[in-house]
Amino acid sequence: MNEVTVLPHWTLAQAINGLVRHGVPAISVWRERLHELGVAEAARRIAGSGLKVSGICFTGMISSPDVAEAAQAMDDTRRAIEEAATLKSQCLIFLAGAVDARDKDLKATRARVLERLAALIPDLRAAKVKLALEPLHPTACATRSVLSTVKLANDWCDALAAEDVFGVAIDVYTTWWDPEIESEIARAGKRICAFHVSDWLADTQDLRLDRGMMGDGVIDIPALRRAVEAAGYTGLIEVEIFSARNWWKRDADEVVQVVKQRFQSAV
Ligand code: ZN
Repeated sequence: MNEVTVLPHWTLAQAINGLVRHGVPAISVWRERLHELGVAEAARRIAGSGLKVSGICFTGMISSPDVAEAAQAMDDTRRAIEEAATLKSQCLIFLAGAVDARDKDLKATRARVLERLAALIPDLRAAKVKLALEPLHPTACATRSVLSTVKLANDWCDALAAEDVFGVAIDVYTTWWDPEIESEIARAGKRICAFHVSDWLADTQDLRLDRGMMGDGVIDIPALRRAVEAAGYTGLIEVEIFSARNWWKRDADEVVQVVKQRFQSAV
């Protein structure tokens, strides 16, 4: 369970207890909640709970054309790497950051992100953390990510040539539309270090905060799961639902129960 699915309702401490109570085996931790509780205390509670950590969300946003801003984002990314190591997370979710109105140069923005990723290799190796490059839907290009396709994530992994510390996160919500999705999942192969599920509602009203419960939308989730597993992925499957209009308004225990049912019937 990605903590964001129950983010408005539960603190991290409550989420740990709630997921254990419902028999959910793993959590993906949202950094704001992590900082509220404290990293050391969170690590202690998670270890005591028996929950696995499928990911930490999120870090990156290192695309700025401004040198000081970029340095700040790199510092924060290095802090997140330490947090992922402390929590023994399967991976750390990386979002590239947006194209900037100050230069409007998408090509240069992508080149900057790639260069800065290369600079993180020693930190990732020292901490033994895998950075999961997560492509976002192209509509996020001006707000959160110039990494828009799984193909580009694969190209970046090829260029970085550091398979021990870079992987690819496949989120069905951000990639299902892509005509090359199946071949690029196959190409990603062992690079896949996270698999996120939710659904795209036919009447979606917000491109970030109106994700659907699995089975309520138009994504063939089982087909993408088969593709990811055929590529060699055997890790956790994470339910990640931002839903200001529906699920964030419901009782958290009810949300977890529905997630468990749909995980069986629609994933
Ligand atoms: Zn995701």
